[in-house]
This record gives sequence, structure tokens and C-alpha cells, in this order.
Amino acid sequence: MNAVRIGDWTLTALDDGGFRLDGGAMYGIVPRALWQRFSAPDALNRIAMRARPLLARGPAGTVLIEAGLGDAGDDVFTERFAVDRPRGLVEALAAEGVAPDAVDHVVLSHIHWDHAGGLVSRRGDALVPTFPNAQHHVQRRTWEAAFDRDGPRAASYHPERLEPIANADRLTLVDGDCTVLPGIEMRLAGGHCEAHAVVLVRSAGETAAFLGDLVPLASHMRPLWVMGYDMWPMQTIADRRALLEEAERERWVLALYHDPEHAFGRVGRDKRGEFAFVPEG
Ligand SMILES: [Zn+2]
Repeated sequence: MNAVRIGDWTLTALDDGGFRLDGGAMYGIVPRALWQRFSAPDALNRIAMRARPLLARGPAGTVLIEAGLGDAGDDVFTERFAVDRPRGLVEALAAEGVAPDAVDHVVLSHIHWDHAGGLVSRRGDALVPTFPNAQHHVQRRTWEAAFDRDGPRAASYHPERLEPIANADRLTLVDGDCTVLPGIEMRLAGGHCEAHAVVLVRSAGETAAFLGDLVPLASHMRPLWVMGYDMWPMQTIADRRALLEEAERERWVLALYHDPEHAFGRVGRDKRGEFAFVPEG
């Protein structure tokens, strides 16, 4: 199922294509003998990932949460990450009847290349905002990290695909937990990068949480299964546990960005009593 209703909002999981990342990096200290039951590695030890931006349509407008991989890939990049993108985000939006200039707001959990690549599109030699009328909401500390070329995760950012948003005066930098629009909130969660945020959609007593890289794949519902990519793994463990407890208690819908199988689900428990992802629908 690719759509759910949360009160007055309709949430649609869009598909911006598949790619592959190293399984060891995605599962950190978890032994391969355990994770390979959930993510089968290829000959290069890479596992399947997807990019699923979330379209939220409701009383405060048309909102896009995350922007996908984008069209940045040269051949080396496309091969290294096995990018498989027969139909990109703009086409996925068109299938929902949404033109790029009809997107009112873009909200980003963070701005690593696999989440923010689609913010701009190539026009001739220039990179221009893909969503020219949208206001883009980004945490200030993740924005600053993206432009720190000596930073420890500089390779994860493509600042040339961010700059046009600021140049077009379409950027709103926010600090910490905030209400972006009526019904759309950002909440800092996890140690993936500076100021990683989950995005909450709330309406009529219902809540959906777009988890970004706090829980990238359904298998990462286990609090201790933390990515090697995370800068502050202990923060991820603590925040993931707290957020999933709240989501379980309040029956939130969860939206996953990277899982190749599941876009929406809820918090369940496995037979050992640990958190498990229960697909919705
Ligand atoms: Zn990611």
C-alpha cells in the first residue's frame, strides 16, 4: 500500500528508485550472519535500498518530505551505488497529479545526497530548484555541516545541489524541534548526523512519523542495530527506543524512506518482545 490517511492529510509514498550501499556500513557492529537474513548482500556486499519521498497533501498545502536521489549520478556514481532509477521523483509526482511548481513546502530530515539530491535539476549547464515555488525547511546545523568541506562526512553531501535553493531565497533554516506548518512538525532524533530530524504529521488525533535515517530499513527497528554511518550511535539507540515507545503507545503510523519492501507500518513486537515493523495494509 502506498497511501494512508492521517486526519485531514493524505500521505503517499513516492518511489524515486533503488540503489545499493555496503551491508556492513548499513548494519554497523551487527554480524553479517544476522543481518543477511533481512538484507541479502550482492557479490560486492551491497544491499538493496530505496528512496521514497513522502507526499503529504492536506489543509496547509502540498508538502514533500525528502527529495530523493536526484539526477546527479555520473557513470561512476551510478555504478558504485547501483542506482536503478527508471522513473524519478518528478514522474512519481506527476502520476499523483502534482506538478513540481505545485509543491508548496519541502521538509528534509537531513541533507545527505540520498535524501536531498532531487532538490535541484539540471537545466543545460545549470542546476535549478526542482520545486521553484516551494519553501525548503532544513535544520541549521545539518545545513552548516553540508558546507564544511573538512567535515568528517563531507563525502555524504553534495553542496552544489543545495546552494541553488539558498540562492533562490527558498530556504528556511530551523533550530531544533519546531512546527513547520500547521500539522507538520520536525523533531530532532538520532545520531545519524548533525541535527537529524524526524517529521511528524498530526491531524485529528492521529500521527504519522517519517523516520528518515533514524530507522532506515524495517530491520533497524531493533534499537541496537545502528548503522556504521551514524556519527553518534548511542544517541540513535536512545532516541530510537524513546520514539518507538511513544509511537507504540499512541498507535502512530510509521513511514520508512529506505526500506525496499515497506513504506508504511506500525510498531509491533517480535517473539522476544523487541520492536518489530508491522506493515500497514
Ligand atoms: Zn539515507
